[in-house]
Amino acid sequence: MKIVLSHLTKKFPGRGRGNKKKEDVIAVNDFDFEIPDGKLVGLLGPSGCGKSTTLNLICGLQKPTEGKILFDEEDVTELTPQKRGVGMVFQNYALYPHLNVEQNIRFPLENLKGPDRLSREQMRARVEEAAGLVQIGELLDRKPAELSGGQQQRVAIARALVKLPRVLLLDEPLSNLDARLRLQTREEIRRIQKKTAITTIFVTHDQDEAMSISDLIVVMKDGVVQQIGKPQEVYDNPSNLFVAKFLGTPPINLFDGRIQDGALLIGEDKVLALQNISDQPVHVGIRPEGFILSENGALNCRLSRPEVMGRDVSIVSTHPASQSPVIRSIVDAESCEHLSGDTVRFSLNPRKVFLFAKGTETRIPFETT
Ligand code: ADP
Ligand code: MG
Repeated sequence: MKIVLSHLTKKFPGRGRGNKKKEDVIAVNDFDFEIPDGKLVGLLGPSGCGKSTTLNLICGLQKPTEGKILFDEEDVTELTPQKRGVGMVFQNYALYPHLNVEQNIRFPLENLKGPDRLSREQMRARVEEAAGLVQIGELLDRKPAELSGGQQQRVAIARALVKLPRVLLLDEPLSNLDARLRLQTREEIRRIQKKTAITTIFVTHDQDEAMSISDLIVVMKDGVVQQIGKPQEVYDNPSNLFVAKFLGTPPINLFDGRIQDGALLIGEDKVLALQNISDQPVHVGIRPEGFILSENGALNCRLSRPEVMGRDVSIVSTHPASQSPVIRSIVDAESCEHLSGDTVRFSLNPRKVFLFAKGTETRIPFETT
């Protein structure tokens, strides 16, 4: 099922009285987006940017201040959560401690009314199917306290799936798991999503997580959507400085630069020749993989140290115009064998270099000569 968010806005009234009255918080600001049927969408942004509020609006726990939500062609904005057919999984699992796994998963089925009511046999079949999907079929008799964090999260996912929801919403479902289990469980979520083909929204503040499992990512900041696209497209073509900084490990390297007489300058280094672009100061972002070691390279850096990261080597260096204390560039191990002395020179892959306007921080397109 496709989900359409149209001018979706949620304001929370400011607290305080009289002169001390605070301004309203606009948690979600004019969100316009169509989530395609059967896809997994990663909703990505820093803490407080409005991710949970967006999910709460879609599942109906909160009412929007303005805007509409459509499931396929049906307007569900005024429907209660029960009538929307949405499965939701939260960060803290929220399992009932006194019920065993089977009872926890079955719980949403117990209260179905009228034509939706299921017989005991039908419920058992549904529970077994959901438990099988998340591979916890052997744990049905256990209590939540007898499960690991990863197993508890699987139970929570099974509970969300048991009603055969039209939409699955996952709010930071992996945050309480350790690093290894996080990796494993995110693959698992992807597998389940592909198998069931349920339209899914996966909320996270972890760009790596969103990039690795999403068909599409939506990057949010302060309630406003910054960019929507396939993970690789957004990485390769960030629309503004915020998005460029938010995606990528190691992060993008930023420099103070300027355009002058058809050249991009970083400090005194003339790093690229450009055409059709007016003189102005710019933020220059360079992805770690955009640096090419070369004896006559234009970007002249002070070498701190090479760091081996398996197949690749990360060269740590500094430059007077760098906006962060160190620059991290990734090169293959062979090309830095003859690295010596205290300077290192790079030429740049222009496709990995992005320019942003000072002030608005929007991307400035350029062509090299
Ligand atoms: P995220 O999930 O991305 O961390 P939230 O959606 O929880 O962000 O919150 C977005 C903004 O809305 C934050 O500034 C938060 O303080 C505010 N907010 C969330 N819920 C409420 C509420 N019930 N009342 C007032 N402000 C809220
Ligand atoms: Mg949240």
